Formats: sequence, structure tokens, C-alpha cells
Amino acid sequence: MNNCIFCKIVRGDIPCFKIYEDEKAFAFLDISPLSKGHTLVIPKNHSENILDITEEDVCHLMKVIKKISSNIMNTYSPEGIVIRQNNGEKAGQSVFHTHFHIKPVYNGTTVVSEIDHRKEIPEEEMKNICKELSMLD
Ligand code: AMP
Ligand code: ZN
Repeated sequence: MNNCIFCKIVRGDIPCFKIYEDEKAFAFLDISPLSKGHTLVIPKNHSENILDITEEDVCHLMKVIKKISSNIMNTYSPEGIVIRQNNGEKAGQSVFHTHFHIKPVYNGTTVVSEIDHRKEIPEEEMKNICKELSMLD
């Protein structure tokens, strides 16, 4: 995609702090990191998000995410690692080329917790939702 900033990074048209590359995937440091080692992992093929990425690309990215996470753990020994991927503007996506965040969490890193926003849903409604979303036979 001509105008996509992450496609431009893959092509080398704009600079980045690259830490990994193979035939299908590319990873570089987030320009505004939430913690030391905050990395973005992207497919080289343009896709917008989880809804249009190919299974092949997303499966490959998962393997790369695991490798990079292990490398971050071995190098910086964070307390934990958050993997995050936003789909759609309302969900916090600001760059519309599929990307997974790998965010190491250290002592003192602020982790946005969703615990205060969890809802209690009555059993009947849970049953309905379960029926509506069921992909079982
Ligand atoms: P999201 O909000 O999930 O779409 O994440 C987009 C991420 O891309 C943000 O964390 C930005 O800091 C990061 N970002 C945007 N432009 C660049 C760039 N040129 N190089 C590295 N990271 C970038
Ligand atoms: Zn792109």
C-alpha cells in the first residue's frame, strides 16, 4: 500500500529500529514505547487487522511473537509481557496495518487494567450470547 506508514517501513522508505525480519514478518521498536523493548510485529503483506489478515500470515506472526518475547525476557528479564493487538479505531487502532504490540512490563510500568470495567451478566443472557456465538455443531 503506497500510503501506509508500516508498508513504507517494510520497504525501507522511512527509517525504523528494526530488530527482526524474515520472508513474511518484520519487527521494530515502537517509536513511542510504553516500556523498554516495546516492539511491534507486522506482516510484510499489507492487511488492515485481524479480520483480513491471511491465516498463513497470522500463524507465522504468532511464532515470531513467541521468539521475540523470549529474546526480550532473556535480555531484560521483565516481570511480565503483554501482547496486544487493536482492531478498529474504537478499539484503539491508530495505524491500519496489522500489528501486534509486545510490551515488556517492569516494576513501575503502568499496566492499564480492565478489572474495574468488567460486567456481571445474568445467566439467561449469558446462555443467549453463548447460543448466538456458538460455533459448535
Ligand atoms: P495502535 O495504536 O495499536 O494502532 O499502535 C500503533 C503504534 O505504532 C503506536 O504505539 C505508535 O507509537 C507506533 N508507531 C507509529 N508510527 C511509528 C513509526 N514510524 N515507527 C515506530 N512506531 C510507530
Ligand atoms: Zn501497510
